[in-house]
Amino acid sequence: MILDDNTIHDISYDAIICGSGPAGVSLAIDLERSGIKSLIIEAGDEFYSEEAQKKYIGKVEGSFPKDLSLLRLSQFGGTTGHWGGVCRPLDDYDFNQWPINKEELNKFKIPTSNFLNIKNNFGEKQLNSNLKIIEFLQSDLRIYEKYYEYIKESKNIFLILNTSITDIVLNDKSVKSIFIKTPFKKIAIKSRLLILACGGIENSRLLLWFREKNKNFLKDSPIGKYWMEHPFKLIGSGIANFAKVREKFKNDFYAFDNFRNWGNFTVSLAPTKKMIKKKDILNSGVFLTLHDRDNTSLKNNIKDLLCVAPKLSTKIVDLFNKKLLCGLSVSSSWEQDAEVFNKITLTKKIDHTGIPEIKLDYKISEKTIQTAKEMVSQIGEYFISNDLGRIAFDQNIMERKNFLSDAGYHHIGGTRAGSDENLSVVDENLKVFGMENFYVLGSSVFPSGGHANPTYTIVQLSFRLSAHLKKKLLEV
Ligand SMILES: Cc1cc2nc3c(=O)[nH]c(=O)nc-3n(C[C@H](O)[C@H](O)[C@H](O)COP(=O)(O)OP(=O)(O)OC[C@H]3O[C@@H](n4cnc5c(N)ncnc54)[C@H](O)[C@@H]3O)c2cc1C
Repeated sequence: MILDDNTIHDISYDAIICGSGPAGVSLAIDLERSGIKSLIIEAGDEFYSEEAQKKYIGKVEGSFPKDLSLLRLSQFGGTTGHWGGVCRPLDDYDFNQWPINKEELNKFKIPTSNFLNIKNNFGEKQLNSNLKIIEFLQSDLRIYEKYYEYIKESKNIFLILNTSITDIVLNDKSVKSIFIKTPFKKIAIKSRLLILACGGIENSRLLLWFREKNKNFLKDSPIGKYWMEHPFKLIGSGIANFAKVREKFKNDFYAFDNFRNWGNFTVSLAPTKKMIKKKDILNSGVFLTLHDRDNTSLKNNIKDLLCVAPKLSTKIVDLFNKKLLCGLSVSSSWEQDAEVFNKITLTKKIDHTGIPEIKLDYKISEKTIQTAKEMVSQIGEYFISNDLGRIAFDQNIMERKNFLSDAGYHHIGGTRAGSDENLSVVDENLKVFGMENFYVLGSSVFPSGGHANPTYTIVQLSFRLSAHLKKKLLEV
């Protein structure tokens, strides 16, 4: 049911969920299955609005590429309004720093796949002891299309749009009530359970703000710290025997052919657990793409030249003012390590909801760069030993130049889960340390990000949190 400021006090809610992205909506949908009443508070409108989007403005210090207000969407359905839909779970060895393991999350793979409209298994095929072929799946989920009418008709899910949470009122170890700002007024509502699901930057921002307003709340907690992205970049290119490459990497997995107009054959590779350990690198997803073409045009000849004589061909390309790719490109979306200096902090500038804007400090570590280099090396060696062709590093990776990478737009960490409250913000059940009824949901709780796109794991965590909350509510 859709509410407004006149009707919001008509109902007594079991849970208040802030944010209607995949995290918040999947949680509300699953709670409803047990008759649990939840209120979703969404800062954005039904669709995109400049007014809602304004709160995402922030300052960036360091090597982060984009304006922060361009990446995320503040509207019903959150950022999935324009996400790419690429899904994959984390690997079991991505959970080394987590308070839970992959098996624990696997229990929720069926509802997760149903929510995301994908099948529930992901293929893998070992190439050698260092490399494996992996499968990503493509979700067509648009939350508005799948769930807006459903929520409108629901008797147990209530939604208020254009409304932001702006403060919490604490009573010892509980959130007694919250303040929300609608377009017309500021209202207090009672809270039995509060779940913050406002996205991978806003979760940190709001907790930092609540700490500023409430003495002793999360006093020594590392809120905002250990923030991560998935760098996304062209890391190498090469020349290859296309027929042999197609044969060698043959698989039955979902293929990214023509995804983003990359080319007409793409295979996704990743390092094995053994290689990650042996080389002391991070996890990595690498996309090997063949760019088919004939050899008759000058443009195509320059493309080939680019692989063997990059300096000369770059000069020629510059003359044409064009960006050209080799016959084979190696791009990657890979893990970044969790470092305390990559962090979100509050600035003095206040947005239209009365909350300070953020500053993001962000640097790419040597180990992150080394991971990309190692992957190009390993794939290069595999090409030589199997007589498939030659692969070269992208010059920017070698020289650490222009490392303003394209990011995956995956905002990870900042309210990380763990067992030590000095190093983490929420416990293994995603409950804020020291609080009895306050939870955080989303990729901000990931202590490490692996290389897989985060939304599949976010939704798994959401179903796990739902199981925990149901138990808690039924016990009372
Ligand atoms: C261009 C792009 C492509 C992407 N492609 C992929 C992909 O292919 N695969 C993948 O797995 N991930 C992808 N992502 C990331 C994916 O979109 C996020 O992981 C996912 O949307 C996070 O879900 P969430 O519910 O935690 O947050 P969000 O989707 O960001 O939703 C948070 C919601 O909270 C609301 N909110 C914020 N502050 C407040 C407040 N104070 N009060 C009330 N509500 C508030 C916001 O308005 C928003 O609607 C992509 C992201 C971008 C930008």
